[in-house]
Amino acid sequence: MSGVNDIRSAFLNFFAKNGHEIVPSSPLVPRNDPTLMFTNAGMVQFKNVFTGLEKRPYSRAVTAQKCVRAGGKHNDLDNVGYTARHHTFFEMLGNFSFGDYFKDRAIELAWSLITKEYGLPADRLTITVYADDDDAFNLWKKIAGLPERRIIRIASSDNFWAMGDTGPCGPCSEIFYDHGDHIPGGPPGSPDQDGDRFIEIWNLVFMQYEQLPDRRLDLPRPSIDTGMGLERIAAVLQGTHDNYAIDLFGALIQAVVDRTGVDADGPMKASHRVIADHLRASSFLIADGVLPSNEGRGYVLRRIMRRAMRHAELLGAREPLMWKLVPTLVREMGQAYPELVRAEPLITETLRLEETRFRKTLERGLGILEDETRDLKRGDKLKGEVAFTLYDTFGFPLDLTQDALKSRGVEVDLPAFNAAMERQREMARASWAGSGEAATETVWFSLRENLGATEFLGYETETAEGEVL
Ligand code: ATP
Ligand code: MG
Ligand code: MG
Ligand code: MG
Repeated sequence: MSGVNDIRSAFLNFFAKNGHEIVPSSPLVPRNDPTLMFTNAGMVQFKNVFTGLEKRPYSRAVTAQKCVRAGGKHNDLDNVGYTARHHTFFEMLGNFSFGDYFKDRAIELAWSLITKEYGLPADRLTITVYADDDDAFNLWKKIAGLPERRIIRIASSDNFWAMGDTGPCGPCSEIFYDHGDHIPGGPPGSPDQDGDRFIEIWNLVFMQYEQLPDRRLDLPRPSIDTGMGLERIAAVLQGTHDNYAIDLFGALIQAVVDRTGVDADGPMKASHRVIADHLRASSFLIADGVLPSNEGRGYVLRRIMRRAMRHAELLGAREPLMWKLVPTLVREMGQAYPELVRAEPLITETLRLEETRFRKTLERGLGILEDETRDLKRGDKLKGEVAFTLYDTFGFPLDLTQDALKSRGVEVDLPAFNAAMERQREMARASWAGSGEAATETVWFSLRENLGATEFLGYETETAEGEVL
């Protein structure tokens, strides 16, 4: 067993064999959940099952869930291309118990899957438990036979999960794989834990309390929610610490190399990774009904697409590139996700059109960026007005400009950027006065005030991109 598709099937079959219902992934746009931009974990589709609002004909489930973390509480956009383990789109493998089994069985199943089914050596594994979770600590000792020093107690919120300010919550236990001392990074809980040596592969959440506004109750029937990154376990099983070196990413990156002729492991490595990652996120979002726009989910998609398109330009692509990569993605993932096959024409056309339009202003915008930053040193700031012009006239989402400056250690002067945005808004407000649009205007401006300017960028309503649109 080595390819991503086999690893996914092995997970689903292992839990099916152990009495779990195989439930399909839910869409990336959560149903009935306006608080969440995109599905970002396996448990999202089961929220109401955990709280008891909804009943299902099964009490154990297993899924491979499509997830996007590119906004809101979990935003890994800036990590992509720079860590070995983060994607904007990834698959989360998870098993769930709705008031059925609890900690002991969850730990038994997890340990058996990774050490027997997947065959990982126990001496590479380190476990974390929540600081006061003696049950979990003792169960890991008993079931896995691990020495105490490899079961680390963590007091931070990393090891305590909550659905919200109120509702189900509980301690978690995470499984880390040690890729070896040739990779920089320390064990969980140490100051350099964010390196890529000890990689978190699986999070087991023990939902055992219900948080009320003023106190915490024990849930009468505690539940289990787990999540393991498919790409991370695939990396381990394929003998690499690097998610971008697994078979699936190898195929996507090779498609980029074939079309650009640029070496994937040279100085342009990050661009290859960003393109491959963002191709997946964009394609899956489009397949689930999101289209690029200037507001809400559509703007997050546009930001992801345009960021990839800048990297395509960096690789010297002289014409739209992203749409040409779609057949490779469909070949690699279409069997597991038939929606990708169904939406292939829409994905291809959307990417082609967006890149064709964006290229009209991309080159000039990059020229301006180059002129304006030529004399800037590490630690300097790009004028907020310039970032605003790039946004407003050249269609550069703010984070694209930030990404473009990142490798040089230059940041955008955010207060000045926000001030420029505010000035434009005031002009718009003045010109709207008396135009009969007061009601909508009030709603949008108060929304913006509540969210704050930067946050609000994801919710732009009016056309702010000049000729691009
Ligand atoms: P990290 O600390 O590495 O950012 P996390 O603690 O935010 O991960 P969880 O919310 O616990 O992740 O999600 C469960 C699992 O999903 C993780 O253990 C990991 O295997 C996987 N995962 C989380 N975020 C990503 C991502 N951006 N790309 C790929 N896999 C991810
Ligand atoms: Mg994270
Ligand atoms: Mg973590
Ligand atoms: Mg985690």
